Amino acid sequence: MIPFNKPFLTGKETLYIEDAVKSGKISGNGIFTQKCHSFFEDKYQFKKVLLTTSCTDALEMAAILANIEAGDEVIIPSYTFVSTALAFVRQGAKIIFADSYPDNPNMDATLIESLITSKTKAIVVVHYAGIACDMEKIMKIADLHKLVVIEDAAQAIDSFYTFSDGTKKALGSIGHLGAFSFHETKNIISGEGGMLTINDEKYIDRAEIIWEKGTNRSQFFRGEINKYGWVDTGSSFLPSEIISAFLWAQLENLDKIQQKRLTIWNQYFEHLKDIPFIHTPQIPDFATNNAHMFYVIFESVEKRSQMIQYLKDNEVLSVFHYLSLHKSDYYKDKHDGRNLQNSDNFENTLLRLPLYYDLSESEIDKVISLIKNFNK
Ligand SMILES: *Cc1c(COP(=O)(O)O)cnc(C)c1O
Repeated sequence: MIPFNKPFLTGKETLYIEDAVKSGKISGNGIFTQKCHSFFEDKYQFKKVLLTTSCTDALEMAAILANIEAGDEVIIPSYTFVSTALAFVRQGAKIIFADSYPDNPNMDATLIESLITSKTKAIVVVHYAGIACDMEKIMKIADLHKLVVIEDAAQAIDSFYTFSDGTKKALGSIGHLGAFSFHETKNIISGEGGMLTINDEKYIDRAEIIWEKGTNRSQFFRGEINKYGWVDTGSSFLPSEIISAFLWAQLENLDKIQQKRLTIWNQYFEHLKDIPFIHTPQIPDFATNNAHMFYVIFESVEKRSQMIQYLKDNEVLSVFHYLSLHKSDYYKDKHDGRNLQNSDNFENTLLRLPLYYDLSESEIDKVISLIKNFNK
């Protein structure tokens, strides 16, 4: 069976974990955590990063930092993972769900202004499949209405957006705050894991406190104050050094991992782009591709189900993705009733194909030729 995903190991993970264990410092914010922080800040020009135990945690930190309170409205795409909305719902927010574009699962930026009210406090964008949302347009709207922009960049490591003046910025470095995931299904992994990026300096000091259970321990360890205590809300959002050590082994191989994933993505694209019964991903001119995911779109839910079954019968696992959040059991009664047709269409017609570092040439060929021969 060709699985949908297989976590890639560089070979150094256990070695670095051993180093962390032997160092005698295995709680958070040690040498490996700091190495990872510097790596990300230097490579992608994030103003400040903090590793977290998941992207969900990073989103929760962002919701606290953005001062989301009961009654506030937050604009979020419906076609996304539960955590994108849940982190804000926990703070008491009402979620105003935005639809996707007809031909791209990302939030349709042209609809955002119509969703803004006097209660709106933040926009959370999701860069689906690591492909950028229209950030220039979204940041302009946010500036105009004084809203906080949070990028759910869970899938978007090593992906970029180009502004109309030619400036190119890493996803997660454009909004006021950003959240990444290192879950084993993402490009760069640590089992469970994540990262908050802080691009607006005014959030940095408070972020460190929230990260360390509401205490000013980070300042204490830098010698800036001589005792630490409880100064704010927060939680234990920081990962242990064991997780950071694992992540460091991945980061040393980031370019190699990305190159391999892109090669596979391009092979799929070249061979599948002209098949009449499927649509392949469209990458806008302002976006780069980080090869997080290769998906195809079918004409109907029935066709997609037939394909899933046919691939499975031939030992290939393919999977669909999100169920629109506005129709979820948890939120449907709180949703304002608007029909979000494009999100529902992606729920019914999008299918993801196996894409991981160790996928072999013959396995890629097999998936491609199966799809080409579907219904023949
Ligand atoms: C994976 C993912 C998450 C959750 O990440 P965790 O690290 O598992 O918390 C959130 N949002 C999106 C868009 C994701 O793809």
